[in-house]
Amino acid sequence: MSKLSENMIKQLKDQILETKFETSSVDVGRVYSVGDGIAFVRGLDDVLANELVHFKDDIYGLALNLEDAQVGIVLLGEDHDIREGDEVYRTKKIIEVGVGDALLGRVVDGLGRPIDDKGPIKTIEARPIERIAPGVMTRQSVEEPLYTGIKVVDAMIPIGKGQRELIIGDRQTGKTSIAVNAILNQKGQNVKCIYVAIGQKASTVAQVVDSLEKHGAMEYTTVVASSASEMAPLQYIAPYTGCAIGEYWMDNGDDVLIVYDDLSKHAVAYRTISLLLRRPSGREAYPGDVFYLHSRLLERAAKLNDNYGGGSMTALPIIETQAGDISAYIPTNVISITDGQLYLNTDQFSSGQRPAVDSGMSVSRVGSAAQTSAMKNVSASLKLQLATYYDMLSFAQFSSDIDESTKKVLDRGERITELLKQSALSNVPHELMIFTIFLNRYDFLDELDVKDVIPFEKYLHNLVVNSHSELLARVKADYKLDDQMIEEMKVVISDAIKSFKVSKNA
Ligand code: ATP
Ligand code: MG
Repeated sequence: MSKLSENMIKQLKDQILETKFETSSVDVGRVYSVGDGIAFVRGLDDVLANELVHFKDDIYGLALNLEDAQVGIVLLGEDHDIREGDEVYRTKKIIEVGVGDALLGRVVDGLGRPIDDKGPIKTIEARPIERIAPGVMTRQSVEEPLYTGIKVVDAMIPIGKGQRELIIGDRQTGKTSIAVNAILNQKGQNVKCIYVAIGQKASTVAQVVDSLEKHGAMEYTTVVASSASEMAPLQYIAPYTGCAIGEYWMDNGDDVLIVYDDLSKHAVAYRTISLLLRRPSGREAYPGDVFYLHSRLLERAAKLNDNYGGGSMTALPIIETQAGDISAYIPTNVISITDGQLYLNTDQFSSGQRPAVDSGMSVSRVGSAAQTSAMKNVSASLKLQLATYYDMLSFAQFSSDIDESTKKVLDRGERITELLKQSALSNVPHELMIFTIFLNRYDFLDELDVKDVIPFEKYLHNLVVNSHSELLARVKADYKLDDQMIEEMKVVISDAIKSFKVSKNA
C-alpha cells in the first residue's frame, strides 16, 4: 500500500469520526416523506423510542418506528404544514402532561390540554405519560373495598382498591353506565376519579360529563377525552395521559379510580397507526405488540404499601365485544391482564334485567379479600342460588308439572333477580345494601310478591334511615354482623313487611 493511500485512509477515518461525534447533526433530521399523519424522517439516528420530536410551531410528533435508515413518526397534529425536507428536532423527552389537583373538575384532551372553556389549567408539576409500573416490593395486596354502589357488583363480584376489573359486553349493554355509577358512588369517599374516553362520539362524552356534573361528581373527577373525530395518535396516548394523572395522586397517597372507555377502540387506533407505519400485522391485523399496549397500561394500577404512601389506583377498563364473543383477540388479551371481569349479557339487558351483569360469567379474583364481613355474610349463597335458578329455569321451560322443591328455587330466583335490578346512575349505600341482600339470606324474600320486591326495598331503606338510624350506624361502624345484630335486623324487617303490606292494602 502506498504512502498516499494510507494518508487518504487516515484522513477519511478522521472525517468519519468527526461526523459521528458531532451531536447537533443527529439531533436534527429531515422529513423524507409525509402523509396520513405519519412522517418518515432521516438523520435522527439517536432518537429514542417514544421520544417527542418537534417539527415547527406547535407541531410535535412521537417517534415510534426506529429503523436503520429512517424513523417513523406519528404527528400529534395536522400534517398540512409539514413538507418533505423540513427540519425535525429531538426534544430528548417523552411526552409530559400537567398533573395535580388543578385538573379536578376539568375536561382535557389526550395531551392534557383543556377543552372545556374554563380557561387554562394551572398545574405545577408535569409527568411523562409513559412510566414503568410500580414494582412488587412497593405494592401490597388488595384488601380495602371500593364500593361501586351497584348491588349485583358489590354483593357478588366485589372490587378492591388497586384492582383491575374489566367491564366487558356487546354494544349498548350498560358498560359505561356501570363505570359512571362507580364514579358517582365515590362522592365523599376521598377517591379521585378519572374518566378516559377513547374513540367515542363527542356527544356520548358530553352526556357522561353532564351526568357527572348533575350528580356533583365533577368536583373530584377529571375527564380525558379523545373522541372518534380526533386523529389516531391522540386516541392512542389518551389512556397513558389519564394514567399519569392518576399515578401522581396515587404516589401522593390518594386513592384513585380510573375508567378506560374503551380499550377496544384504543387497540383500533393503535392498529391504524401501526399499519400506516407499515409494521407487519398479525392476528386480526393488529401488530404483534398489541398485548404490551394494554399490559403496560393496566400494570400501572396498584395498591402501594405504606412505605410508599399507601395510595392506590383502581382501574376499570372497558372492552366491547361483537355478538358476545369474548374469545376474540383483544378481549382475551385484556381478560388475561385484569383481575377479573364484569360480563354484561345482551339477552339479560334486553329482557330488562339491568344492570345486565352475568353472575355466572363474571369474576373478581382479588376483590373478595376486600369484601366487608357483613356483605360476605349476607351474600354467601347468592351466586350459587342464581346459578341453580338459571339452570332450572331452562329445564322448567320444557316441563309442565314442576315438583315442589324446583318451584321453590324458581320462585326464589325470580325474586332475587328482581332484587338485583337497579336503574342507571342510582347508587345504594353499602350499609343499606346489606339490608337488601339480607332479605334473601334470611328468607324474607318469599313473603313478597315479585312486583313488590323493589318497592319494598325502597320502603325498608326509608324506614331504616328514618327510624332505625342507631342500628344502621352499628352496621356501618365496622360492617360486621354479630348474632344480636342479625336478630335485631330480622325483627325490623319482619315488622317492615307487615307494615308494608298494611300500607299497600290501605
Ligand atoms: P356503548 O356500546 O354505546 O358504549 P354501553 O354499553 O356503554 O353502550 P350505556 O351507554 O351505559 O351502554 O347504556 C346504554 C343505554 O342503556 C343507555 O341509554 C342507558 O341509560 C341504559 N341503561 C344502562 N344501564 C341501565 C340500567 N341499569 N337501567 C336502565 N337503563 C340502563
Ligand atoms: Mg359506552
